[in-house]
Amino acid sequence: MPTPKTSAPSCSSAVTDSRLAHKTGPDFLQETTTTQYCDVLIIGAGLAGLATALSLPKQLKVTVLAKEGLIACSSYYAQGGIAAVIDSQDKVSDHVSDTLIAGDGLCNVEATSQIITQGSNAISWLLSHNVPFTTNDEGQSLNETKIDTQLASLHLTQEGGHGCRRVAHADDATGRHIMIRLQQQASQADNISLLPFHEALSLITEDAKQTTTTRRCIGAKVIDTQTHNLITFNSKAVVLASGGLGQLFSRATAPNVCVGDGIMMAWEAGCRLANLEFIQFHPTGLVYNDENGSSNFLISEAVRGEGGLLRCPISHERFMPNYDTREELAPRDIVARAIANEIANNDVGYVHLDISHKPADFIKQHFPDIYAHCLSLGIDITQQPIPVAPTAHYTCGGVVANASGQTDVTGLYAAGEVANTGLHGANRLASNSLLECVVVGRKIASQLARQLTNASPLDTESSDNPDESTLAESVTHTKSPSLTQFIVPTEHLNSSVEITDLSLSPDDFNLEQQLTSLKQLMTDNMGIKRNEASLKQALDQFIRLKQQLSLLPTDPVADQNSSLNRFRFDRLLTLASLLLQSALTRTESRGGHYREDYPSVTHSPATSIVTPLSSQVGELSSNVKQTDNIAELKLNKQSSSKRAVLVAKAS
Ligand SMILES: Cc1cc2nc3c(=O)[nH]c(=O)nc-3n(C[C@H](O)[C@H](O)[C@H](O)COP(=O)(O)OP(=O)(O)OC[C@H]3O[C@@H](n4cnc5c(N)ncnc54)[C@H](O)[C@@H]3O)c2cc1C
Repeated sequence: MPTPKTSAPSCSSAVTDSRLAHKTGPDFLQETTTTQYCDVLIIGAGLAGLATALSLPKQLKVTVLAKEGLIACSSYYAQGGIAAVIDSQDKVSDHVSDTLIAGDGLCNVEATSQIITQGSNAISWLLSHNVPFTTNDEGQSLNETKIDTQLASLHLTQEGGHGCRRVAHADDATGRHIMIRLQQQASQADNISLLPFHEALSLITEDAKQTTTTRRCIGAKVIDTQTHNLITFNSKAVVLASGGLGQLFSRATAPNVCVGDGIMMAWEAGCRLANLEFIQFHPTGLVYNDENGSSNFLISEAVRGEGGLLRCPISHERFMPNYDTREELAPRDIVARAIANEIANNDVGYVHLDISHKPADFIKQHFPDIYAHCLSLGIDITQQPIPVAPTAHYTCGGVVANASGQTDVTGLYAAGEVANTGLHGANRLASNSLLECVVVGRKIASQLARQLTNASPLDTESSDNPDESTLAESVTHTKSPSLTQFIVPTEHLNSSVEITDLSLSPDDFNLEQQLTSLKQLMTDNMGIKRNEASLKQALDQFIRLKQQLSLLPTDPVADQNSSLNRFRFDRLLTLASLLLQSALTRTESRGGHYREDYPSVTHSPATSIVTPLSSQVGELSSNVKQTDNIAELKLNKQSSSKRAVLVAKAS
């Protein structure tokens, strides 16, 4: 693991900048202790963040923040691979078509085509950064050949929903191999500062001049969670690459840092959010010793792609043929619901995924990580089936952005899982997300290179660069997506309920405990199957909790950590409420959103939109007021004894 540069050579400290026009977040964030400057601030050090950072010209000063350590990101844990049209028999149009089918009517066709067209370029870029993809010829060293030859020699797997083999991978630990290489290179780059344990709390915006949007993003308020220093980062552009929100659910594959911070910061800064109800549940999370539902190791889709079969753990019969003609290779939502059904009927809490009929050497060669992990738990997958159950896995919706990563706020870009570019629609096609991280990240870098330096981005200087020559410059910043929209009502955030029992108290407010209850409620009420009653029940509880939080007396000796934890929890409650309201408003079943009370597609395809907080200030006065209440909590970082409780699962 490379040692990140902890100093910030690419940032210069400065006195506090007085041009901050718009305050978002609590008042204590105004108590900035230091101000730093960089050209591009990237919030998130996963694949989207590092692909952007490494593609920017070297003369730009780039700061990349990570909320915890550098490996605490979904990218590091990606197993299966990255989808791209590489095989000579495969076609971009086929990959687009498979993506649109999985997306169930909600993909933006233009954005989808633009991103998928760049698939093989994305893999070439990763190869040029020495990512050791698995090849057809075991003994072959990729480094010794040209990129085109390397591309042609890659071993491709097939995953659910893909019509052919098109997933490039590095063993069964693709994300780890990619991230190790990119982290090494980012930590060695003179223009890039990697800052782990730096949590962005809110974005800084000012009124935009001469642009189509009303606001411009000029930086972010950040806390160094090791020193507890508050830092203002001023920058020419900000890239949100902060990942998804899987950790709003009890069973999730994403690390603990993935609680939707970026989505909320963007919303507060003036961005629309889209399709928040579409949470993809991966069908096959490992179930092991799972009394508290905390198991989060994933059994990759590729296991089914290579012939793994799903069986009832009692009768040992296959069940997928009863659900879909594509059987084990049906799209994720179908497989996940089928497994949930079987689990509801079998009372065992899991089903079996069995690949033991394949030769042991084949299994060990293709799935070395999964084999080793399961073996360490006493499950020999060459001999035994694997107990699996669905787990929250991917946030299909997010911050409204186009395929170039542009958002509603000038100077603010979004790439990777935080963004809703229209690629995933109602359900993400397996292995398309790593692809999106690289393609959109590099596209953002390419635009910033032009805007900030008049130069070509670092890796796209050659004239035959396909990124610029084949990608139509039709990506304009448009507010009118091709799909129709419906607005998700948010008045509930302003509704008041009579609180008779104030169960929250400042003394025993514990973020970790509160988070556990929030996750359980989300899992029970907004899981694979939803209905109006359960969604409303959870929403009602969150509204009550928000009100209770706002009524908590200000503790005069509260330290910075407890102020922050209340701020974090309030934001999580708001985000959970937005998800629930989005799910309530979509009275149909589509893609990853399944309503028991509306089991079929009933509308013509429409994107659900949550309008920006800034455009709802009147309506959401209580939401804003609550933030102010928290702001009144006293900032006293000297007395902060506890570390932030959101500790990444990875270490
Ligand atoms: C177990 C697993 C397996 C997967 N397998 C595949 C696969 O095979 N193929 C595929 O295409 N996709 C896969 N996915 C999905 C894919 O890995 C993710 O969608 C993708 O990696 C997201 O990348 P990202 O850069 O957007 O976010 P992440 O990689 O999650 O990175 C988020 C970054 O943001 C930082 N951050 C968050 N909040 C803040 C904050 N407030 N301040 C500062 N920093 C912050 C985090 O610290 C982290 O550095 C998998 C996901 C998981 C969890």
